Amino acid sequence: MRHANPFIALAVIGLTACASPAKRRSPPEPSGPERCPKPEPAASTVAEARTFELGKPPLPEGVSCLRWPMPDFRKVSSEFRDPDHAFTPGKHAGTDMPAPVGTAVLAPAAGTVVRTLPVEPCRDAAVVVRFDEGWTYAAHHLSRVDVREGEKVVAGQRLGLSGGAVDAPGSGPWTTGPHLHFSLQRREAYVDAERYFCPQP
Ligand SMILES: [Zn+2]
Repeated sequence: MRHANPFIALAVIGLTACASPAKRRSPPEPSGPERCPKPEPAASTVAEARTFELGKPPLPEGVSCLRWPMPDFRKVSSEFRDPDHAFTPGKHAGTDMPAPVGTAVLAPAAGTVVRTLPVEPCRDAAVVVRFDEGWTYAAHHLSRVDVREGEKVVAGQRLGLSGGAVDAPGSGPWTTGPHLHFSLQRREAYVDAERYFCPQP
């Protein structure tokens, strides 16, 4: 897959794998009229291609911390590089935050929307925001996208609504339940977003 900006393409490729709300190696068998195919080889290729920054590079000047994207749901069901992740053990490129479908997802920092993926059956819906040169964050498995590419957003602005229900439009194939997959990237590398969130008020 080729894209003008390879690291953004990787961030939003639609194969973001998530486990939530419970950690489990075998996801439940989905039910319902439409089951999304799970392209196992492609997903593992994407996971292998990921690069991780294990340190804590400082945030850009003017950004002291990131706001938690769903203030009423401050839980984590699968952490960065979770060794027990259902689909990508040790390679989980973000933080999974369980929340009911339809929870408002708020911008953790001001920036510019550089990529959106729409809500479609069996596809991962996402918003990617660049908040400084080389830094982006992304919200995945959305059930609604409220911003457009090129749009400037302020901290706390609603980016969309959370999703992640199995086989729901926008969830993509890699989810085991309602949650937000939130990822943070500096240049090509994923970094642990949990280390950057503002202290709880
Ligand atoms: Zn995830």
